Amino acid sequence: MEPNDILKYISTRYRDPDLAGRLIDRIKELAKYLDNVLIMHVCGTHEWTITHYGIRALLPRNVEVRAGPGCPVCILPAEDIYNVIRLGLEEGLQIITYGDVSRAKGLKGLSLEDARAEGLRLRIVYSFQDAVRIALRDKNVMNIFFAVGFDTTAPSTAYILEKGLPDNLLIYSCYRYVPPSVGYLLLSDDILFDGIINPGHSSTVTGMKPYKKYFDYKPIPMVFSGFEPIDILISIYQVLKQLRDRSPRMYNEYTRSVTWEGNVKAMKTLFKVFNLDEGLWRGLGIIDDSAFEVRDKFREYDARFQYGLEKPSRSYSMPKGCRCADIIKGKATPTECPLYLKACSLENPIGPCMVSVEGTCRIWAEHKIIGEIYGG
Ligand code: SF4
Repeated sequence: MEPNDILKYISTRYRDPDLAGRLIDRIKELAKYLDNVLIMHVCGTHEWTITHYGIRALLPRNVEVRAGPGCPVCILPAEDIYNVIRLGLEEGLQIITYGDVSRAKGLKGLSLEDARAEGLRLRIVYSFQDAVRIALRDKNVMNIFFAVGFDTTAPSTAYILEKGLPDNLLIYSCYRYVPPSVGYLLLSDDILFDGIINPGHSSTVTGMKPYKKYFDYKPIPMVFSGFEPIDILISIYQVLKQLRDRSPRMYNEYTRSVTWEGNVKAMKTLFKVFNLDEGLWRGLGIIDDSAFEVRDKFREYDARFQYGLEKPSRSYSMPKGCRCADIIKGKATPTECPLYLKACSLENPIGPCMVSVEGTCRIWAEHKIIGEIYGG
């Protein structure tokens, strides 16, 4: 089979309406044995699939699926955005980053895009490779790549960084490691849920293994899921089945991509270049061993080290009235925010969850969700 045929086969099979119908019937059957069930997921792409295919409307009334901290721009500390703006304006450096990151507001409500009006030199790219190309093209300009993402994107940066960067390119790392954030959710008394759906992309890199210690501490159903509607339905079915049988376990639904060990080569390169340190997650707070920091060996490329900048250590409150912190924790939905689609909209985003394509508020707004989403 050609690659395109394989993709077509997978997308047809994993979007099959008959199969979806049968899974919904089985989910409804299982739900009869259970009280109210809250399932958390931690991935912007999962949220997109769930919302786009109207999966919530198909679920029984006592089964709710909530989004947690699955969007790297949403959890990006406002202090880091502010630091990068200052570096750009005060040191005359060109900032290179992704489009979503450039629109997220930092301290004082200022985004990189806003700072453009004050003279900030800003280049938008799709990858770190693009940043390297920009630096090589104009050697007279000093650049900083503002690196934002999870373990999914960090390995490709590590791979390039390990081989060395152009003299006029530094990196400001805000990469975050996903497993400790799931650990944070599981260990927190503040956020109570009955099962968790783990991200497929990120787990393809990390593998399931790093989640074991969190599962052992609090054994609740934990399913590693793909991104098609059938993947999500199987994952919900699995969580409910485990709850009914009182047999929680780590279950790999996404076997076509996720393994126990993950991408060993990618993780090796990642940890050769970065080490894990405590990191601030906007809306959540400090999480141990969750931030990828550039190792001493590569300090010559580390913008934070080169300019003597401290890592942010406090949790910046969200804009007034914005409930992003609760949304990131899975304690609220966008429609529970008084500003949703009123003061805060796609055209005029107030909080980070409305800025990024992976933000829950943005996904809901794009799908014009305004009221009841569960059908029953
Ligand atoms: Fe924040 Fe806007 Fe979402 Fe409200 S609707 S939580 S203000 S991003």
